[in-house]
Amino acid sequence: MIPFRYTCTLCGRSFERDEVRYLCPVCGRTYAPGMPLQGVLEVAFDWELFRARWDPSSPDWDLFMPVEKEYFPPFPVGGTPLLRADRLGQELDLRDLSLKNDGLNPSGSLKDRASFLVVAEASRLGENRIVAASTGNAASALAAVCAASGKQALIFVPAAAPRAKLAQILLYGATLVPIDGSYDDAFRLSMEFTEAEGGLNRNTAYHPLTIEGKKTAGLEIFAQNGMKVPDVIVIPVGDGVILHGVHKAFADLRAAGLAPVLPRLLCVQSERSDAIHRYFTSGTYADAPSPDTFADSISVRTPSNAVMARRALLESRGTSVAVSDDEIRTAQAQLARTTGVFAEPAAAATIAGLRKMRESGWVSPDDHVVALITGHGLKDVDAALSGVAVPSPVAPELSAVQAVLAKCGQ
Ligand SMILES: *Cc1c(COP(=O)(O)O)cnc(C)c1O
Ligand SMILES: [Zn+2]
Repeated sequence: MIPFRYTCTLCGRSFERDEVRYLCPVCGRTYAPGMPLQGVLEVAFDWELFRARWDPSSPDWDLFMPVEKEYFPPFPVGGTPLLRADRLGQELDLRDLSLKNDGLNPSGSLKDRASFLVVAEASRLGENRIVAASTGNAASALAAVCAASGKQALIFVPAAAPRAKLAQILLYGATLVPIDGSYDDAFRLSMEFTEAEGGLNRNTAYHPLTIEGKKTAGLEIFAQNGMKVPDVIVIPVGDGVILHGVHKAFADLRAAGLAPVLPRLLCVQSERSDAIHRYFTSGTYADAPSPDTFADSISVRTPSNAVMARRALLESRGTSVAVSDDEIRTAQAQLARTTGVFAEPAAAATIAGLRKMRESGWVSPDDHVVALITGHGLKDVDAALSGVAVPSPVAPELSAVQAVLAKCGQ
C-alpha cells in the first residue's frame, strides 16, 4: 500500500486517513436527505512513492489499494474476464467490442469489489458490524463478504427487491431489514442508524472506499487490455459510483505515469431513473421523479454520487444517454443471443445505450469499446422471462416433438 490522504471533491480540503470516515466534515454538513451527497471524499495517493515502488516487470496492482493486504477478506473478488464480442459487435456496427463480465463475481455483481474493500477497512478499524442500504446487489455482496469474514451485515433494502437477491442476503446469514419504501428511504435510514447505533456504514459514495473498490474494474480493464486505454467504456449508472470508480482508475493510472489518456465514458441510465443524465445534459440537478424501471439496480431517485458522476463525464469527454425499459429488454436478449452472456437488466442497459450512441455517431465503428456488464442475469429471472414466451409442454413422443419443431421451421 502507498500512503494516502483523503481529499474533499467539493472544497479540496485534505485529511489524514484516520481523521475522517465518510464525508468531508465541512461540506458534509450541508448534506440533507433528498439531495446528492455533498463533500464525497476521494483517496489521493503519494505518487512519488508509488513510482519508486512500482516494478513494471512484475506489476503489483495492490499498490493502488488504500487498505493494507493483511486486512483483505478471505474472499477473492474481481479478476473477471474481458472477452471479445465479435458477433454482437457486427450487429452494432463495431469492429472492436469487448465485454468486461463482472456478473462473474462471486455474488454475481460488480458490488463485490466495493464490499471487499469496505470489509477490509472494517477489519483494520476493528469494526464487526457493517451496515448498508442497497437496491439488492450491494447488500448481497456485503452479506457474502461478511459471511466469509465472520462479520455481521445489517442490510436495508426495499421490500420489492428481486427475490434472488433477498435469498442471497438471507442465506449468507445477514440481518435483513426490508423497508416498506424505496431505495432512497433505505439509504437515509441506514445512515440514521449508524449515526445513532454505530457500526461501519458501507453506503455507496458515503463510504469513500466504495469508489476505490469499484475502481478495480477499471484497473483490470487496463491490465487485461495489454496496458492500453480503450477509446470508450460503457457503464450503467444508478448512484454514479461505478462510473466515478472507473474514471478514478484511469485518473490514478495517468497520475502514476502508466496511462497517457483517459477513456471517454458513456453513462447509461434508464429513462425512468435519469437524474444524472439530466444533470449532465442540462447542468441543473433535479431528482428522478418516479424511479420505477425494471432495471432495479439502477433505480434511484436521488443519486448519491451525482456531483462526481457529472465531473467524471466532463473530465473524460464522455457523455450520457437514457434508455427505455423496452430497449433494455431487447438489449438483454441480444446480448445473451450473440455472446452467451446473461446479464441482469441494469447490466444489459449498457448495450441499449451503446446501440443508441453508435447510431448517433458519438461512438464510431473503429472505436475500441469496452462494455461493463455489472450483474448476472440469474439475479432477476422474472425480469428476463418478461421478454420471452415459454413454450407449452409437448407430449413425450418423438412424433409430437417433430410436429412442434416442424411448425417453427427446424
Ligand atoms: C449498482 C449497480 C449498477 C449501478 O452502479 P452505481 O454505482 O449505483 O451507479 C449497475 N448495475 C448493477 C448490476 C448494479 O448492481
Ligand atoms: Zn469539503
